[in-house]
Amino acid sequence: MALMVLKFGGTSVGNLEKIKHVAEIVQSVYDAGYKVVVVVSAMCGETDRLASLARNLVQIPDLRESDVLLAAGEQVTIALLSMILIKNGYPARSYTGSQVKIHTDNNHTKARITSIDCDNIMADLNKGMITVVAGFQGIDEYANITTLGRGGSDTTAVALTAALKADECRIYTDVKGVYTADPRIVPEAKLLRQISFKEMLELSSLGAIVLQTVAMEIASQHHVPLRILSTFEKGMGTLISYEDQSMNIKTISGITFTKDGARIIIRGIPNGAEFMNLVLGAIGDANIELDMIVHNVLFDSTTEFTFTIKRTDLAKTTKVIENVLGRFENLEVLTLGKVGKISLVGIGMHSHADITSKIFKVLTDNGVDIQLILTSEIKVSVLIDEKYVESSVKALHKAFHLEDEAASFIDEVRSVN
Ligand code: ASP
Ligand code: MG
Repeated sequence: MALMVLKFGGTSVGNLEKIKHVAEIVQSVYDAGYKVVVVVSAMCGETDRLASLARNLVQIPDLRESDVLLAAGEQVTIALLSMILIKNGYPARSYTGSQVKIHTDNNHTKARITSIDCDNIMADLNKGMITVVAGFQGIDEYANITTLGRGGSDTTAVALTAALKADECRIYTDVKGVYTADPRIVPEAKLLRQISFKEMLELSSLGAIVLQTVAMEIASQHHVPLRILSTFEKGMGTLISYEDQSMNIKTISGITFTKDGARIIIRGIPNGAEFMNLVLGAIGDANIELDMIVHNVLFDSTTEFTFTIKRTDLAKTTKVIENVLGRFENLEVLTLGKVGKISLVGIGMHSHADITSKIFKVLTDNGVDIQLILTSEIKVSVLIDEKYVESSVKALHKAFHLEDEAASFIDEVRSVN
């Protein structure tokens, strides 16, 4: 009999009505003939509430005791969900992390799962029980309660799926799945039926879906089939899977963007690594995150160095550069305060040249200048003036026919030639 792991986050179990609704979903999967493991988060806002109780009491709460406190939120939900399932006539049983035996290291408040002992759960599943497991928690080798970091219930669900060799891990959330672009910006954006892990990692901001990174890592390492779907609307959502031959590979799966960037250009850098070492070292020491980086040696043997940062880091970065700059002559620094990055992502993206030239054409036709282009195996990113980001995402979505599931850019290039 196939086995499903169903995970419901805080917004899905936010009040008693919602918990009743979750019970109905669980029951329907059980009625369809599956063995069912449910993983739940604390009711929405509960983990924050518990954390603030601690902070209001002591400035820096003891980490072991923080875990005892924070893990309490999930214990409430597993009991409530199990109660309603039992009342509805379904055999259900709740499990804390320690009752399952989810073993972790002893890194309190951000522990990593080291192994899961599934015997207890398996015995219940074989008896036809629905097992309801508290997400986000485990025990270290001395049975101290640990928690897995915020958003850790995703990790519990994925790790349990891998340990139980379950057939699918369903992450129920408040959106219908992964879209070709953020539907708030592009109303025609389509829900993707399937996407690869690689693409998902790139697109994780699309449609507001963010899975805990550790969960994505475990899922891709263990080839866990993950499905993202809505608790509140019907539909099969998006299957995230390891790419294989059977997958319907699209040239471009989705478009994502970030705003609030700034671009800095330093010109006239004399040859040699000294300046670069100093400037990169100082930026690293100041904990400033660089995004796009272009280091370009020109024909006159000087170097031009361009990079982008978050706009909130601009003042800090300018200061850092000024400090280094004092030691060099004839350097020119230009700052562009308002830039945004658009990325097109797809594992079927074989020819970057075709795609890049099409991006150029679409953006130029719309009067938008491209400031930088960077490509990677499955992504083309362009940097543009921030004010054009939304309109450009819409134009590119249309030009690459992402609203049309069946369309492929490669076919179109062929027909044009
Ligand atoms: N309740 C925990 C949190 O709020 C874990 C989770 O929701 O995944 O971060
Ligand atoms: Mg979450």
